[in-house]
Amino acid sequence: MCGIVGYVGARSVVDVVIDGLRRLEYRGYDSAGVALVYQPEGADPYLAFDKKAGKLANLEAVLDGQDRSLEASCGIGHTRWATHGVPSDRNAHPHLSADGRIALIHNGIIENFGQLRAELEADGVEFLSDTDTEVAAHLLGREYAADGDLTEAMTRVCARLEGAFTLLAVAADDPDTVVGARRNSPLVVGLGDGEYFLASDVAAFIAYTTDAVELGQDQIVTISRESGITVRGFDGKPSEGKPFSVDWDIAAAEKGGFETFMRKEINEQPTAVADTLRGRIDETGQIVLDEVRMSDQDFRDIDKVFIIACGTSYHAGLVTKYAIEHWTRIPCEVELASEFRYRDPVLDRSTLVVAISQSGETMDTLMAVRHAKDQKARVLSISNTVGSTIPRESDAVLYTRAGIEVAVASTKAFLTQLAACYLVGLHLAQVRGIKYADEVSAVLDELVAAPGKIAKVIENLEPVREMARQCAALGTDRVLFIGRHVGYPVALEGALKLKELAYLHAEGFAAGELKHGPISLIEDGTPVIAIVPSPRGRSLLHDKIISNIQEVKARGAKVIAICEEGDRITAAHADFVFETPASPTLLSPLLTAVPLQEFAAELATALGRDIDQPRNLAKSVTVE
Ligand code: GLU
Repeated sequence: MCGIVGYVGARSVVDVVIDGLRRLEYRGYDSAGVALVYQPEGADPYLAFDKKAGKLANLEAVLDGQDRSLEASCGIGHTRWATHGVPSDRNAHPHLSADGRIALIHNGIIENFGQLRAELEADGVEFLSDTDTEVAAHLLGREYAADGDLTEAMTRVCARLEGAFTLLAVAADDPDTVVGARRNSPLVVGLGDGEYFLASDVAAFIAYTTDAVELGQDQIVTISRESGITVRGFDGKPSEGKPFSVDWDIAAAEKGGFETFMRKEINEQPTAVADTLRGRIDETGQIVLDEVRMSDQDFRDIDKVFIIACGTSYHAGLVTKYAIEHWTRIPCEVELASEFRYRDPVLDRSTLVVAISQSGETMDTLMAVRHAKDQKARVLSISNTVGSTIPRESDAVLYTRAGIEVAVASTKAFLTQLAACYLVGLHLAQVRGIKYADEVSAVLDELVAAPGKIAKVIENLEPVREMARQCAALGTDRVLFIGRHVGYPVALEGALKLKELAYLHAEGFAAGELKHGPISLIEDGTPVIAIVPSPRGRSLLHDKIISNIQEVKARGAKVIAICEEGDRITAAHADFVFETPASPTLLSPLLTAVPLQEFAAELATALGRDIDQPRNLAKSVTVE
């Protein structure tokens, strides 16, 4: 959450910072602000800042009206996702020290801010915002006043802070330095030719450089045109980051002709899934993970799997449970990461915890991972962000290759997570000797065929859009989603998409549960979207859901069925059918989730919602 950018270099600092914020705006869009340090010839350097509630465009409008004859020499910028204090001009970042010499921005939550604030107020410091962040600005101002060294001052301040934070700061009388610090929140460095970038993620600077440095936990980084980049630990000892090269290009962060990022990302799903599956099998027919710091014997010893995740990733986890239990016969539980560590789960050396997080920084998931590791469990993570915190702290990693996902509502990240989860299930089955290479490759063949089928689904979505527009025109105020087996998590995901994008009441149910209560929600004309399993293979499941369709229809529901092509029985019972290509039941979510994404996007668009940046939300949730 929140996007952070810092820059020193010869380009227009304000342009680089604003451009970076634009690419990071998906991380938070409650307010935005910049602080810039100027060095006029023959005069003292000085600091200027602007901040504005609302989307980045509000800040840009302010900056556009300003005299740009003097360029800043370094600067920082922030887009906020409020945790402490309402989104407003005064709570927007940057925050200044009491003497106005330091400007600071922050991603995360300073958990001991109450105590620090009381201490500072007792010393007469006047607070101008309701944020937790402002304490860090005042502390940094005081420490900086002591010796005029921003890096030393930041080191002393970090020693006093608890919680999760990435901090960036500039000082009025130091026009060549931006200092950053990170604990439990993301920060990467971009290395250009005589110019340096700091950002929450590489999207902010890939237009300028693909050379980057990943920072470790509890590190402080200083960028300066004169001295380049220096890294130290919170303990003050010299340290190093890990260099890497970014393989996304700038086109990945642009809309590429689509009206919204979400539409573009829905369309990228066939490629993203194909990329995630590519090259995953070695010459001996074994599935290969990206990073493995545990032995085959460790995998063989596993007698229980926990999948932990949040939001859409949690739904990918629910699908995976069906695959893992079926393929490996190991009991598998799926749990919301935010609940996991608070209920004292039974974990030991033979437990495998599979953590799913697109950003690799999701704080709830990270904390659950740390709890699992404390209990000696093994952790395998699935993430879209190479080198992010969760993969770094895991024993094994499989990266999805979705490329950058900008829209807040997850689409291609979800489908690639499913693909990666299936690979993990197959890997477990293989290492444990439960599935032979030819059996694995039969499933893999089906998986490899999925991108073509997803493309076919995407080509034929117009009837779904039409249905969504009709629902919007009719003033639909609720939509129910039902499914069985892997169709149940798909129903949950369809409802989540609609809630977050259209701000409508939408609920997903296991179809068999309706009669135990929720069926009373159905009125004449209530849309019910049914995810119908293939009539081939699991005919019992199919029959049951047909009964559920009849039950809701008998109470006035309008049934929209997502079913396999040629399913005449469903066509005879539903008011509207959308057919997807035939697929093995376990893999069918790769297809059935797609029309639900489009349904939510179109209905929300028809209601005039901003589908890339829904209200109250942000991507990459780095607070608990
Ligand atoms: N906790 C800080 C605030 O509410 C930072 C939030 C963020 O990460 O954007 O202002």
